[in-house]
Amino acid sequence: MFKYQAPQDLLKGKVILVTGAGGGIGRVAALTYARYGATLILLGRNTEKLEAVYDEIELNQWPQPAIYPLNLESAGDIDFINLAETIENEFGRLDGLLHNASLLGDLKPISQFPTETWMRIMQVNLNCAFMMTRELLPLLRLSEKASVIFTSSGVGHTGRAHWGAYSVSKFATEGLMQIIADEEDGISSVRANSINPGGTRTTMRASAFPGEDPQTLPTPEEIMPVYLYLMGNESQHINGQAFHAQKS
Ligand code: NDP
Repeated sequence: MFKYQAPQDLLKGKVILVTGAGGGIGRVAALTYARYGATLILLGRNTEKLEAVYDEIELNQWPQPAIYPLNLESAGDIDFINLAETIENEFGRLDGLLHNASLLGDLKPISQFPTETWMRIMQVNLNCAFMMTRELLPLLRLSEKASVIFTSSGVGHTGRAHWGAYSVSKFATEGLMQIIADEEDGISSVRANSINPGGTRTTMRASAFPGEDPQTLPTPEEIMPVYLYLMGNESQHINGQAFHAQKS
């Protein structure tokens, strides 16, 4: 496991957006960032789930978050322009962006892969990360030290039979991360890196590996050290790197 002990005030005063914040790793990352002092923008498609995370943050008396319901499957330029405008009006800048939301889709060989599923997966996992980052870059550049984190996967580094669009979207996510990292290098305080969570106890993992005993996998809480490290200022010199949450 990646080892990092974060100071309690690591994210104090930071405004951080997490996509897919209603469940799985995204929910736990949002709660963890709030616990370390950040004001969260909780983005997801299910308002009820986002409200539950909001309530948990309030109950703990961490900084008051904001909810931003958005279905990435149908989102386009205008939605991300509106998102940027709302953040600008409410907060004036953005210090952190965790691209976490993803769709797995069915595992099928390329010879049988439906175009419609391919397009949906690319839309949620890749196209939205591109459009959202593009529209939010001006606000990220206003931060003293901004961090953009992309979520990758083992199949984003090595292709595997049947992982189709999901795998290809994660390869492309690594590429997008590297390009942004290179473009911002030296011209702004924005850095971009990726995290491969590794097999983690969530609904997505269970649907990919139905025969696996979830108890053998680490929980989202256990993989948080690298999420904290990359979001905080102690990693400000790290740019364009791919991290593995479960490797030391
Ligand atoms: P989950 O399926 O548990 O959570 C995915 C999140 O993305 C949910 O909050 C989900 O919302 C959201 N989401 C999905 N589609 C949309 C959409 N159209 N619009 C808005 N939000 C959407 O997955 P994990 O927590 O396991 O995965 C988190 C990230 O980690 C993903 O990027 C995944 O690829 C990656 N990953 C996970 C691994 C694992 O073993 N768990 C291994 C490697 C990578 P809702 O709650 O409404 O469904």
